[in-house]
Amino acid sequence: MISCDKCSGRAVIFQKYSGKHLCAQHFEEDVHRKVKEVLRAYRIFGKPCRIAVAVSGGKDSSSLLMILHNLFSYRDDVELLAISIDEGIEGYRTKTIQAAEAVAKQLGIEHVVEKLEDNFGVTTDLMASQGHAQGPCSFCGVLRKGLLNKTARELSADAVATGHNLDDEAQTVMLNYLKGDVDRLYRLRPKRALAGMVPRIKPLRRVPEKEMGIYAITHNIPIDTSACPYISRAMRQEVKDLLNEIEAKHPGTKYSIMKGFDKILAREPPGSYEVIPCNRCGEPSSDGICASCRLLDRVRAEQSL
Ligand code: SF4
Repeated sequence: MISCDKCSGRAVIFQKYSGKHLCAQHFEEDVHRKVKEVLRAYRIFGKPCRIAVAVSGGKDSSSLLMILHNLFSYRDDVELLAISIDEGIEGYRTKTIQAAEAVAKQLGIEHVVEKLEDNFGVTTDLMASQGHAQGPCSFCGVLRKGLLNKTARELSADAVATGHNLDDEAQTVMLNYLKGDVDRLYRLRPKRALAGMVPRIKPLRRVPEKEMGIYAITHNIPIDTSACPYISRAMRQEVKDLLNEIEAKHPGTKYSIMKGFDKILAREPPGSYEVIPCNRCGEPSSDGICASCRLLDRVRAEQSL
């Protein structure tokens, strides 16, 4: 048996980047410490606040709900609620939403489910069946993000917490570097409270993906591990494999990527991002037509060809 470096308990993980073996209790403390440090930097606590957690039913978002519950359930000034967006993907989303429902119920947290179909009159299955050039993910992602923001705002949330972990974030940063997409890189920075937009927070951005899996297992969190049938992330998968290979040889590389990225963001001149209401639906936009309306226009135009 390999022992924890902090007590005599059985180690459940070896963190190559820290050189430590940790038992279940010290591992949990380590995850909670990282999440608390990230949350402190967002500066949203200190006054009563309502956090909407975007829960898909997978290991990251369901663990996030439990972590925030573990950290805040004793506080009267922090309220949690869970939101799931149902994109309309037959045989997949129904199962993952059931898993999200189970974890919210177990923790006694209100769970709200909103459907793309009820809000936009389309489903991801429908868009996929129409064979648009860009593939279902481009539509699904934009509409889901918009609906998540709208739902959180209507439920008076002060912030939306998403389950992006360290690996997701490091991959996204590297992908945008590789594509030379500086605009997208800047869009990753924490959002201020702009008109109609609920600030987004990523409490897990310092927790490696593998550790989120271990957290879910060690806490018996009901999760669904099925993958979306439309997933197509060829380049992201290549970047993921590459980063995992480099991390194995040089532990701590993913943390270094994020540290470097945060330093770049800190140098950005302030005030370069303005938000105005969409002329059609009133949702936030940068130029008078929001991303969801622009996208639905394209879907309708392609349908009429
Ligand atoms: Fe939507 Fe693509 Fe994610 Fe599937 S993989 S849920 S289609 S964004």
